[in-house]
Amino acid sequence: MSPEISGFRRFLHWGPITALSIIKCITLTTLYMNSMWWPPNKSFAGFAHQALFLLLSTLATFNYVMATLTGPGLMPKQWHPKDPKDAQFLQYCKKCEGYKAPRSHHCRKCDRCVKKMDHHCPWINHCVGWANHAYFTYFLLFSILGSLQGTVVLCCSFWRGIYRYYYLTHGLAHLASVQFTLLSIIMCILGMGLAIGVVIGLSMLLFIQLKTIVNNQTGIEIWIVEKAIYRRYRNADCDDEFLYPYDLGWRANLRLVFNDECQKRGDGIEWPVVEGCDQYTLTREQLAQKEEKRARTRTFKCTRPVTGRWLPIFSQGWRVCVAAPCSDEPRISLRPNDMIKVTRFRNHWLFGERVLSEQELAGVKKRQRKGPIRGWFPRRSAVEVIEAVHEGSGDGNSETPAPAAQNGNAHSHLKQQQRNGHAKKYM
Ligand SMILES: [Zn+2]
Ligand SMILES: [Zn+2]
Repeated sequence: MSPEISGFRRFLHWGPITALSIIKCITLTTLYMNSMWWPPNKSFAGFAHQALFLLLSTLATFNYVMATLTGPGLMPKQWHPKDPKDAQFLQYCKKCEGYKAPRSHHCRKCDRCVKKMDHHCPWINHCVGWANHAYFTYFLLFSILGSLQGTVVLCCSFWRGIYRYYYLTHGLAHLASVQFTLLSIIMCILGMGLAIGVVIGLSMLLFIQLKTIVNNQTGIEIWIVEKAIYRRYRNADCDDEFLYPYDLGWRANLRLVFNDECQKRGDGIEWPVVEGCDQYTLTREQLAQKEEKRARTRTFKCTRPVTGRWLPIFSQGWRVCVAAPCSDEPRISLRPNDMIKVTRFRNHWLFGERVLSEQELAGVKKRQRKGPIRGWFPRRSAVEVIEAVHEGSGDGNSETPAPAAQNGNAHSHLKQQQRNGHAKKYM
């Protein structure tokens, strides 16, 4: 996706179209049913009830539109820190050709580095981050409240509608106010399903967002902190205690997001930090983690074709499919003899980057292959390449990597890796 997509073109995507359709479907169905169940023109209470619903629906729509239009705040391309010396503490983004400011991350879907990136949300077709965190959270809150009211209205009117005949024949004509047509009964059932779905789904999301805001720690940062703690637990020589720099206490954390500027406080690049930390506490930790990851990288060689499908049941079998990683990261296709630099390990799946052939690097058109080069692939289609040390050469230079697959060693080696797998959760 092009990062230049701006303004209302952001809405021309299945996410916003579906989300807005759901909001409008619940709103219109609720208004229609409510006009029969509790007519707003007959009593002040009825009027106030309808006005409240309209207010919630409008606020949900407004915050939704603002979250999409505002966006998360993108890092300027080719960004450099003010003091060039600080660049050593920052990661470099090859795609944006600039440094990543603290708390910013590159989003594959937006194809840009995003300030205080929380996650990419397909429903708003944008990331949730520094600039739109408040709008997004308000959208969740008002949608849940509006849908809750909608659920009550739709359930009550549905009840009255289907018992209309009973009311009329038992002298309760004043309760027989809801009259269904085929279309309205279908819309009522659909509206109820959607409203209940929104309440359940968005409540879970709102809970996660509030936790993120109260701790001033995004989903990505929770992951970094977890790895930081584990890194210290594993490395005896790493004795400095890791202190998360952005948790200023729940009140101050809330004020950072919910304020008059709706999160646009500061520039999204410099953040207030707790005592004992500086602007680069977290980025230094990220660099150290990256360094360790590089050291952990192992080379694998593809032994049988990989389709790159998400559930390769025919080529790989059901066990591989059942254990498929729960993430939207890409799956890569491979051909025999492809080399892959693997950084993450699961029992049945590996995550790595395919090493490009010389022709591909040279840009020979015929040799170019489609699809991503970084992603997951089934473990059983590749074997680890063990670098054999030339005995007697004395200089310890490693020989050409030899695939360990030809004999049984490959299997026992893989088994060994699986036994060592206690660390894989953190990779
Ligand atoms: Zn980037
Ligand atoms: Zn994004």
